Amino acid sequence: MKKMLAVLAFCTLLCFTFPYLLGAQTTPDPALVTAIAAIKVIDNHAHPLRALKEGERDTEWGELSYHTLETAATDPGAEMALVPFRLRPKSPEFLAVWQALYGLPRGAVTKELPHDVVQVKRQVMLEQGDNYPASVLDKIGIETMLANRVVMDRSLPAPRFRWVSYADALMFPLINKEVRKARPDLVTSYGSLERLLKTHLTDLGLSRLPPSLEGYLTRVVTPAMERQKHGGAVAVKFLTAYVRTLDISNPSVEQAKRVYDRYVKGGKPTAGEYKTLQDYLFRYISREAGRLDLAVHIHTGFGIGRYFDVVGSNPLLLEPVFNDPVLRKTNFVIIHGGWPFAKQSAAMLLKPNVYADFSAIAFLIYPRELSDVLRSWLEISPDKVLFGTDGFEVDPNMLFLNWEEFTCMGTRSARQALSLALTEMMRDGEITHEEALGIARKVLRENAVKLYKFETP
Ligand SMILES: [Zn+2]
Repeated sequence: MKKMLAVLAFCTLLCFTFPYLLGAQTTPDPALVTAIAAIKVIDNHAHPLRALKEGERDTEWGELSYHTLETAATDPGAEMALVPFRLRPKSPEFLAVWQALYGLPRGAVTKELPHDVVQVKRQVMLEQGDNYPASVLDKIGIETMLANRVVMDRSLPAPRFRWVSYADALMFPLINKEVRKARPDLVTSYGSLERLLKTHLTDLGLSRLPPSLEGYLTRVVTPAMERQKHGGAVAVKFLTAYVRTLDISNPSVEQAKRVYDRYVKGGKPTAGEYKTLQDYLFRYISREAGRLDLAVHIHTGFGIGRYFDVVGSNPLLLEPVFNDPVLRKTNFVIIHGGWPFAKQSAAMLLKPNVYADFSAIAFLIYPRELSDVLRSWLEISPDKVLFGTDGFEVDPNMLFLNWEEFTCMGTRSARQALSLALTEMMRDGEITHEEALGIARKVLRENAVKLYKFETP
């Protein structure tokens, strides 16, 4: 009897553990997969290029030139080791993406495939003309893409594309020779911010910065943001984490004024003094965004560049900003979900004015890992999670892997990950099939419709 019981206990143990021993994993519910594939999505964050003729370039899709101080390694193997595994050119996933976008490869995969992709793509660009960017959205099943760009273009019209302008140039008015010297790895980024601030001044009919902080706020910052709003912007984006940490203190206007008024004439503020001014401006811009009904997008988590400070980009650093009663009318979106601090982002979602999107991680991490991230958010607040891709141009010389391909890859991956997360939640008895469908629609479009007050047909 004792022996029998022992055998029974062993069998029971095996029954429960065998699937795990085999590494069995959830397969997504087929009905859910079909329903999710049919939802027309709203992409919360991407960098589409305008329609281009052969030989043209679009340099207005981003605000910063990413840090390029370090020259490329001479050893191609070492260079490749710095490219995320999933995005290396040999990734078989690109085949599925080219197949979806261009019906290629038609036969066997050949070495010439990227060249063939470029040929077909150029042909489509030629045929579609100004409609080319919208035709890309049609192919991927995207109804609206939020386009994070310095300026928009007639080939990126509303309502298919909605503008997300940049805010950092307004936050760093004192970039001068001395400031540049302190951070040589940021010289190119500083250069970009300086150029953009000059453009704002020119647009506002000013030849130089006003001599006092009040003048800067009322004659530059506020009118520049109002111009963006009138130009169709639905949000402003901070790329601050590329230039400094997201630890934003709450200085008084007098403290900020002392720094601006003294150094606008020249001279080098200490790092602490300049931070005081930047922190004040970050909050001022966020407050103005709330007044103008513009959401505030903030780059969080990992970033491009070998000097990127991931720790300084933790979304938890923003908690004092999210908790500021003065900023409660401003809606913040944690862009890229703060990954690898995705769990930390989940903890922010119950604040009334905080959302998170999963742009970039949609193609950086594989669907199974992404489904874990999504589940951890959806179990906290399915009303605050936004789909996003971050489709962007990695290298203008690689037309075969550009914003279209990354957007397509991110969207496919997001649909898979969402199906998986919701299936697991159903199987664990957390939600019904009906509720799973409702959550999928929220994540892929309805949360964005609500947040940005989009009109839907
Ligand atoms: Zn981006």
